[in-house]
Amino acid sequence: MLLAKTGVPAASDLAKVIPSEERLKKGAVAIIECFQSIPCNPCQFACPRGAIKEFADINDIPKIDFDLCDGCGTCISKCPGLAIFVVDATYGAEEALVKIPYEFLPLPAKGDRVAGLNREGKEVCEAEVVRVQSAKGLDKTPIIWLSVPKDYMMEVRHIRLKGGAVS
Ligand code: SF4
Ligand code: SF4
Repeated sequence: MLLAKTGVPAASDLAKVIPSEERLKKGAVAIIECFQSIPCNPCQFACPRGAIKEFADINDIPKIDFDLCDGCGTCISKCPGLAIFVVDATYGAEEALVKIPYEFLPLPAKGDRVAGLNREGKEVCEAEVVRVQSAKGLDKTPIIWLSVPKDYMMEVRHIRLKGGAVS
């Protein structure tokens, strides 16, 4: 299984966690890319809207009710596995908004053009940083908001700063 060998989820894994086209057209929504049964559960307590369902067991894989989620992103910084992202396909005509957790320094700044990397760390497009959230309440996990060409909104999950910093 690709995921177990490389840590990179296969298309079949992703198909289980990506919202429907219909839901994506309604606005921002969280995508929880957590596929392995591990003893971890902070995400279930993170959502103010109750969109992440209660676990029966700490080893459960998280389940989300996309209809309750409004894509606020609160859960992103609560996940120690950096496995939660938000995608807003309604952000612009050509671009989608992708919110990612980012625990590297230096942080990018609003307006920076950065390389958008896929889950394997390969550059797939250029992205623009539109906001950096790094408040104390975020558990030391800043959240970077990226404007990404829509074709890549389900691929970009990390960034590399231009000018040499490898992250
Ligand atoms: S993005 Fe916000 S509403 Fe959606 S699951 Fe996370 S905390 Fe809940
Ligand atoms: S907090 Fe993150 S790593 Fe832990 S179960 Fe939830 S999504 Fe998975």
